Amino acid sequence: MKRCPRVKIDYYTTKIQEFDMSFYSQFQVIIAGLDNVEARRWMNSTLHRMVPFNENNEPEVGTVLVDGGTEGFQGQSRVIHPYKNACYECTLGQLPKVENTFAMCTLASTPRIPEHCIAYASQKLWHEIFKKPIDKDSPVDMHWIFEKAMERADQFGIRGVTYKLTMGVVKNIIPAIASTNALISAACVSETIKILTGCNSSIDKSFYSGQTSTNISPIADAPKEGCVVCSRSPTVEYTVAKDEKLCDFVQRLKKDSNLAAPNIEADDGTYLVGTGFYAQGIEHKLEMTFGQLRESGEFSENGYTI
Ligand SMILES: [Zn+2]
Repeated sequence: MKRCPRVKIDYYTTKIQEFDMSFYSQFQVIIAGLDNVEARRWMNSTLHRMVPFNENNEPEVGTVLVDGGTEGFQGQSRVIHPYKNACYECTLGQLPKVENTFAMCTLASTPRIPEHCIAYASQKLWHEIFKKPIDKDSPVDMHWIFEKAMERADQFGIRGVTYKLTMGVVKNIIPAIASTNALISAACVSETIKILTGCNSSIDKSFYSGQTSTNISPIADAPKEGCVVCSRSPTVEYTVAKDEKLCDFVQRLKKDSNLAAPNIEADDGTYLVGTGFYAQGIEHKLEMTFGQLRESGEFSENGYTI
């Protein structure tokens, strides 16, 4: 605000989930510079739920989500127009699989890189000797792991174990690179300016990899059919057996749809499965089979919203 006197900044230091839709609906555009996938999914789903539908059941213009994220040399910026192009949830499958675990057999018998030695020290040696979890913020604990990793690296002729790398592997830290952050935040801001002023159409998808390539596309992916957030008509159909327990079905649903804690709500507002506040009073349903739920009248034949 000192540098740009006409800019007004309100800041909050709280979880994004603590604000409700009335807070977010005051904005035309939201730039999400979030540090984890769960928060992005929440933001994406909240912005979609905020969009009103007109009498022809068509979505009105919603709050646009500009999502930026970086990981080391890689970064991407995305523009999500709710119900117009692919939402964050539609493209979850495109996320790179984070390789932060190593096969124990590799660690135990054929370590090849310094990371293997560090993982061996922290995942195996530590637990053999100490009967407590590693305190990742304790220099004493971290030094112990560093020294054991060094010893192991020496045995196998592996170089490159450092204290810093030990911290990175144990805490699973991916270094933030200032230039990548600068590029991605600049991309997010310029897309936002275009959206707010209408001076140009937005570039909906840009991917930057400082190591290999950049890929900028004005055309976003189309919404994915059956997406739990943005597809419209009856989305997913599940067949359940009479003797399948609700809790087993929830496990299946979590796996299939990549959901961490789904709520399952009927049209009349009753919950079949709830999380947090919505779990109160319905926990007993989880142990029931669909046959039992139906007999007891606790199952809605009209379908559920997940
Ligand atoms: Zn979607």
